[in-house]
Amino acid sequence: MERFDVFIIGGGGTGSEIAFRLGERGGMRVGLAEHDRLGGECNHYGCVPTKVMLRSAKIAQLARTAQAFGVDVAGAVTVDLEAVRERARRVVADRSGEGTAPFERVGVEVFLQGARLVGPRRVELADGTTIEADHVVLATGTAATVPPIDGLADGPYWTNREAIWEAERIPSSLIVIGTGAIGIEFSQIYARFGARVTALEALPHVLPNEDEDAAASLVPAFEREGISLRPGLRMTRARHDGTSWTVELESGERIQGQELLRGRARRGGHRRGTATEELRGRAEGDLLRPRGRERRVHGIRGARRGPRRSDRRRAVRGERASAHRRRDRGARQDRRRRPHG
Ligand SMILES: Cc1cc2nc3c(=O)[nH]c(=O)nc-3n(C[C@H](O)[C@H](O)[C@H](O)COP(=O)(O)OP(=O)(O)OC[C@H]3O[C@@H](n4cnc5c(N)ncnc54)[C@H](O)[C@@H]3O)c2cc1C
Repeated sequence: MERFDVFIIGGGGTGSEIAFRLGERGGMRVGLAEHDRLGGECNHYGCVPTKVMLRSAKIAQLARTAQAFGVDVAGAVTVDLEAVRERARRVVADRSGEGTAPFERVGVEVFLQGARLVGPRRVELADGTTIEADHVVLATGTAATVPPIDGLADGPYWTNREAIWEAERIPSSLIVIGTGAIGIEFSQIYARFGARVTALEALPHVLPNEDEDAAASLVPAFEREGISLRPGLRMTRARHDGTSWTVELESGERIQGQELLRGRARRGGHRRGTATEELRGRAEGDLLRPRGRERRVHGIRGARRGPRRSDRRRAVRGERASAHRRRDRGARQDRRRRPHG
């Protein structure tokens, strides 16, 4: 049996950050398990590749509207999806191409395999190795969920992963279900790439997690680009007939699209096999969950502490806590040199 002071399950942005901070402090044996790719969703299937796509989308849009600025761009503007992806691959590789080396430099031991919590303070790796750790950190992220719309799960819908890496072509039309940040981001990308996009939302307004007025102020900009935003709908059925999707609304209206993207609702990755559900009660106190976006390690002796309570209260009120920002500035600069930012 291997013994660690801290063992982290999940090598995405959160797990990596915690591992680095603990590694840099020294004095502890720190281990990290990742069963897919170091850098996680953000580096490989989220923030980074979508920003590359957004940049291409912005350039395409600029080219289309160039004449208004006195610039003549001859011919129709088209987007080569594979070339966009190739650039995304390079950018992702630049950020995480070093693999385990940056972790090893700060003394963190990395296990590129799955890990399960099998008891209080006890983890089992996919190869059968048992690990005992004073602290186990679950940083297993989230996974896209399928909304309960009859027929949706039976068809070849896209999540962020397919929309980035597996789309064979730019569809002539795209239905996006969910208008959170991810749904809106892909709506704009694919609309600017040339697809006719209809974004459907069950909640009363688009960008439902944002301030209502702020979200409303963005709507005209999206609509000017041809994105049809449809909040406050009840979707009753979705069908794929082998070539395209039809989504039926409660009103009887049918919306058609060549592809369909599930843009919202993600669920904690701990449900994907870290076996925490049944252990949650028993292991209380041994499990440390990174808190929201703070990405700090609370409760591990010697690790960097989270923001002061007063800072946190101000942050909750929506004000940026300047003291907190000052303390984090140095850490952010460091992070830019790491595989995940
Ligand atoms: C399309 C898209 C765009 C986004 N854009 C932005 C953005 O612009 N800005 C922003 O701040 N955020 C953005 N996000 C959100 C961002 O990706 C997440 O906040 C971030 O990935 C969370 O990091 P994490 O480490 O908590 O989880 P994850 O990145 O999901 O990492 C969890 C890791 O745990 C691993 N894992 C899970 N279970 C196990 C196991 N049993 N054993 C071993 N390893 C395991 C997974 O393989 C994964 O690598 C975006 C997300 C998406 C989907």
